[in-house]
Amino acid sequence: IEPPLGSTVIPVVNKLREVLAKVGGGDSELELPQVAVVGSQSSGKSSVLEALVGRDFLPRGSDICTRRPLLLQLVRSNEEAGEFGEFWHLPGRKFFDFSQIRAEIQAETEREAGGNKRVSNKQICLKIYSHRVLDMTLVDLPGMTKVPVGDQPLDIEAQIREMILSYIKQPRCIILAITPANSDLANSDALQMAGIADPDGHRTIGVITKLDIMDRGTDACNLLLGKTIPLKLGYVGVVNRCQEDIKLNRGVHDALASEEAFFQSHPVYNRVADCCGIPKLAKKLNKIFVQHILKMLPDLKSSIRSKLSIASKEHSNYGHLPRKPDQGSLVLNILLKYSKAFVSMVDGRNEEKLTS
Ligand code: GDP
Ligand code: MG
Repeated sequence: IEPPLGSTVIPVVNKLREVLAKVGGGDSELELPQVAVVGSQSSGKSSVLEALVGRDFLPRGSDICTRRPLLLQLVRSNEEAGEFGEFWHLPGRKFFDFSQIRAEIQAETEREAGGNKRVSNKQICLKIYSHRVLDMTLVDLPGMTKVPVGDQPLDIEAQIREMILSYIKQPRCIILAITPANSDLANSDALQMAGIADPDGHRTIGVITKLDIMDRGTDACNLLLGKTIPLKLGYVGVVNRCQEDIKLNRGVHDALASEEAFFQSHPVYNRVADCCGIPKLAKKLNKIFVQHILKMLPDLKSSIRSKLSIASKEHSNYGHLPRKPDQGSLVLNILLKYSKAFVSMVDGRNEEKLTS
């Protein structure tokens, strides 16, 4: 699929997401395509996300850092526009300093979930504009954990699992299942959860992290080739920074270069180069994401149509709009416009596909 297709479809889906969030329905009303990152705590989820974005911006530490789902919209923009982030809860404010983004994620996490390790299922939404990213919507989720710490309730494990499931069970969600290579692969929390939500493995991509610290003499080749646990979308192996690198302030770019060197010089992985490395993961993900959106456009269109007709009915029940329309009806109007534009765009796309 040609890149221009993704670049037209994804912004519309993004806009739709924003408009829906403003009306209050959010993704629960209309499930939009996104990629959810799941795995146990410290499996390398945040590292993978940062590597995909090419910037350091996520809170890190040895214990639980991701305590609210982080919805991350990556928007490819031209280089002159600069790289910056924008939070939905702080409209109009551009963060050019990515360490400030990290601080704001931390502050916003505490505003909702408190200071002592509790989790909350209320999303933080962040948009990142950069020339380095491919268009994509990702969700970083709290990692799976077993033992409650801080203010966490006794059933923290069940709570986090439920939160993760609520995302990955949606048929429109692509699951990025993160498993560290230095653990028992057969017991991967991520692959186990993905198996529950997506038993056929149609929308799960396996990511194997920490290939650099596997037991000497072992490798993840069979896993990467899908010989251990088959997944239709396959696996990608990656090497991220270790904690020491982070302490030494080694940047993401440095890390990408040493990842490339690692794979090239490795006697086993250089034979399966197609499923190794963050750049491969980024390309694969973008391609699958766009194909995924195209595949479910007809479905998305019909659910928008039916919501549109319900909303229109509701709208007309209010009778004439008062002279000063309140915010609610204004937003509803915007939503109606967007949905209509979206439906006609989708129709256009389908015709294009039929005629080409
Ligand atoms: P998360 O809890 O799943 O978000 O995991 P993080 O991304 O915060 O990573 C947990 C720890 O593992 C950090 O200290 C990372 O530096 C380290 N780490 C992540 N990926 C790798 C990797 O590929 N190799 C090595 N050596 N360390 C890694
Ligand atoms: Mg994390």
